[in-house]
Amino acid sequence: MSKHYVVIAEVRGGQLRQVSLEAIEAAQLAANEGDTVSSLLLGHNLSEQASQLSRYVPGQVHVLDHPDLEHYLAERYCSAILPVLESLEPYTIVLGHTAMGRDLAPMLAAHFRAGQISDVTAIHRNCSELLFTRPIYAGKAFEQKRFIEGPQIITVRPNNISLAAETGASAELIQHAYSAPADLKTIINDVITKTSGRVDLAEAQIVVSGGRGVKSAEGFKPLEQLAEVLGGAVGASRGACDAGYCDYALQIGQTGKVVTPQVYIACGISGAIQHLAGMSQSRIIIAINKDPEAPIFKIADYGIVGDLFEVVPLLTEQFRKALT
Ligand SMILES: Cc1cc2nc3c(=O)[nH]c(=O)nc-3n(C[C@H](O)[C@H](O)[C@H](O)COP(=O)(O)OP(=O)(O)OC[C@H]3O[C@@H](n4cnc5c(N)ncnc54)[C@H](O)[C@@H]3O)c2cc1C
Repeated sequence: MSKHYVVIAEVRGGQLRQVSLEAIEAAQLAANEGDTVSSLLLGHNLSEQASQLSRYVPGQVHVLDHPDLEHYLAERYCSAILPVLESLEPYTIVLGHTAMGRDLAPMLAAHFRAGQISDVTAIHRNCSELLFTRPIYAGKAFEQKRFIEGPQIITVRPNNISLAAETGASAELIQHAYSAPADLKTIINDVITKTSGRVDLAEAQIVVSGGRGVKSAEGFKPLEQLAEVLGGAVGASRGACDAGYCDYALQIGQTGKVVTPQVYIACGISGAIQHLAGMSQSRIIIAINKDPEAPIFKIADYGIVGDLFEVVPLLTEQFRKALT
């Protein structure tokens, strides 16, 4: 019997998130021939994003477009999503392993009495069995898990599964009505978005991160300039956040964001295990530290022993010359 895969797509800052296209690819990797892959998009003023999404989704795109859904709020999103999902009867629901996905997925799992595999970084087929790879022990090891039966829910880690390819057609758009629940316990009046620049930190291909070695908020300026030249995002260690040099929205690590960029440049970061938990899966790690014994050098592909205030501006200058 054919099964239905539904990807819950996400919009942030008016843009369809890249991880939603990765989630569509994940659904297609998991689906068998004859299965359907659809998507559900929530938010406000979604016409552009819905038509963009429709180019990647082989099935239908279901849209819940309402001013109340502009920002994620668990109660609102759940009450909007559940009737639509119940009518679609999904065998598998796929979400990005983002702040929203991490919050929403367990609620959906409880509602549908579904199994959940979180933070999936790869999907393999072993004969007829589907194996989902995910990191454990703060990224020190990987495990492979499988579902025994559906319904099932997976969340995919940004930047690990490739983007879905365009289908060459436009999926049918189906608008759904939204009515606000009467007994809301929480209301959002205003949202203040803290970002690390123009590029989303979780999805950035290049991350320039600063630690306590950056010494002040002002000390982050050279890192911001390097990130700008490289088209990357700025991140930080908890040491830098705790010291008040930057906002906690930038924190990478066990209790911060997990990033998997192509290039991670750690500046003045010692390499504590809790920091490595958030960045050790980066493809290339470059460490700049004045202490040659700093543990970060053990996992770095390239290490520069030196003062970051000398090294970072030199790199910025050289990259600027090379890239313009
Ligand atoms: C439960 C728990 C959760 C945690 N979660 C996280 C987390 O999510 N993320 C995280 O990052 N940490 C986390 N930590 C904290 C972690 O243990 C470390 O304390 C923290 O990562 C250290 O930050 P740092 O490397 O910036 O600072 P430090 O360890 O102080 O290192 C600063 C580095 O800068 C170098 N340096 C100094 N000046 C210069 C210079 N001019 N040029 C070049 N290098 C220079 C020094 O040689 C040193 O190696 C957590 C800790 C606990 C207990």
